[in-house]
Amino acid sequence: MDIQHTTLLIIGGGPGGYVAAIRAAQLGIATTLVEGEQLGGTCLNVGCIPSKAMIHAADAYHQAHHFMGGSALGIQVEAARIDIAQTVRWKDGIVARLTGGVGALLKKHGVKVVKGWAHIVDGKTVDVTQDISDTKPVRIQGEHLLLATGSVELGLPGMPFGGRVISSTQALSPERIPGKLVVVGGGYIGLELGLVYRKLGADVTVVEAQDRILPLYDEELTKPVTNSLRKLGLQVHLASTVQGLNAAGDAVRVLDGVGRELDLAADQVLVAIGRVPNTHGWGLEKLMLAMQGRALKVDDQCRTSMRNVWAIGDLTGEPMLAHRAMAQGEMVAEIISGKRRQFAPAAIAAVCFTDPEIVVVGQSPVDAAKAGLDCISAHFPFAANGRAMTLEATDGFVRVVARRDNHRIVGWQAVGVGVSELSTVFSHSIEMGACLEDVAGTIHAHPTLGEAVQEAALRALGHALHV
Ligand code: FAD
Ligand code: NAD
Repeated sequence: MDIQHTTLLIIGGGPGGYVAAIRAAQLGIATTLVEGEQLGGTCLNVGCIPSKAMIHAADAYHQAHHFMGGSALGIQVEAARIDIAQTVRWKDGIVARLTGGVGALLKKHGVKVVKGWAHIVDGKTVDVTQDISDTKPVRIQGEHLLLATGSVELGLPGMPFGGRVISSTQALSPERIPGKLVVVGGGYIGLELGLVYRKLGADVTVVEAQDRILPLYDEELTKPVTNSLRKLGLQVHLASTVQGLNAAGDAVRVLDGVGRELDLAADQVLVAIGRVPNTHGWGLEKLMLAMQGRALKVDDQCRTSMRNVWAIGDLTGEPMLAHRAMAQGEMVAEIISGKRRQFAPAAIAAVCFTDPEIVVVGQSPVDAAKAGLDCISAHFPFAANGRAMTLEATDGFVRVVARRDNHRIVGWQAVGVGVSELSTVFSHSIEMGACLEDVAGTIHAHPTLGEAVQEAALRALGHALHV
């Protein structure tokens, strides 16, 4: 059998793998990347980008629909219609532009891209096949093996995917909008896509196992989202257990938080109860690597327990976010090239693209107290921000958390329309070790939502100007 040789062999062309490949090639490392599906991975094809495209389309339609009854702005729309097939084509066009761009960047940098499924032979070698019946695999050997195979969606034991039961992947390419959608899981995907379907006209019911939505975030942050779900007419059942489909297969049987058995009629059921590292079906077990729960265990340089075998992204567990995967990929390429690097971010921003959006960077007041830090925290409400008024977006606030002794900022949280864009300034201030005085003393452009960031810092110092 012919064997191809390379220095860095990467399995998986998602944001972790493709960024590692580009950076490695920039640093002169001979790199081969194996991808079984499309370059760009979950993020570009069936995750971050298509979901944000559908959120934008649903918002635009919802707004047009809303204007049909007239509005305080004086805008009235006669009729709003949506051609969902065209919406999906538009979304697919964005995906194609981005995945094509990744392919072009890899080519430009001289990365060898091999299309096919990699199966581990040993810690330096993989066989690549086109499908199960392929009896002539291509064998590739690399001095370094980088594992970046991502994650897969969790299914419900009694209600496997198929027929009416869909995952986020199908939900992102609807052929038509169902009359009734039941969403199992009130986390990131359940709420981002539940809101899309509601704004596109479906009756949406969310079933969440915990006693509140987005249980990862504190209640003060999720309250404006809860209010918005109510206003938009989504039904939410908390502390509820899904028992399966009814006998006719057209309703989800649920035991709700107060012990009632409910049959929730459903034309479709979106199951979004989390994702797990993709560790099965490609021979990973042969390497007998150390695990941490269901994820591959890595150190602060993304080294696994085997020499020159590295792992990044969702395969290494939480937080399963594209920007973390990219940062890890870039770092591994630099370490292999001889640079001294360590994965030790002060904070990784998490953004939930609900309506309104939520951003969390660093520690909340509760996290800080649990960590034994004596902190001060302050809010600034968007109700007191001029730009928010002009956007009809006065729900929500910015909150800062800082150490009492030296005013060093340890956390930012915000909820409101468009706050995802504030994640950048939040990350910068924490990563650069800013104190409240640094943010309070910086001139922030007027009128912007960002003024609420400065005002939160001023308020923590006891002298907010506009509240
Ligand atoms: P992936 O992107 O999953 O890429 C892994 C790649 O490996 C895939 O292309 C796969 O085909 C390939 N592969 C797997 N096994 C093999 C094999 N044996 N041989 C060859 N190729 C293989 N994150 C955010 O930060 N922001 C968001 O807004 C966001 N929205 C999301 C919305 C949805 C609906 C979903 C599902 C996820 C979202 N995420 C978001 C999460 C984000 O997509 C992931 O964290 C990110 O894609 C992880 O990158 P990765 O490189 O680790 O893996
Ligand atoms: P999630 O962990 O965000 O939410 C899952 C929710 O389902 C939780 O609230 C959980 O309590 C609930 N749940 C679990 N089992 C249940 C059951 N049997 N019945 C009812 N509820 C149940 O997971 P997700 O929404 O599937 O998203 C997967 C991952 O994808 C996320 O963790 C995140 O890493 C990534 N993602 C990120 C973004 C973003 O950054 N904006 C968007 C989408 C997805």
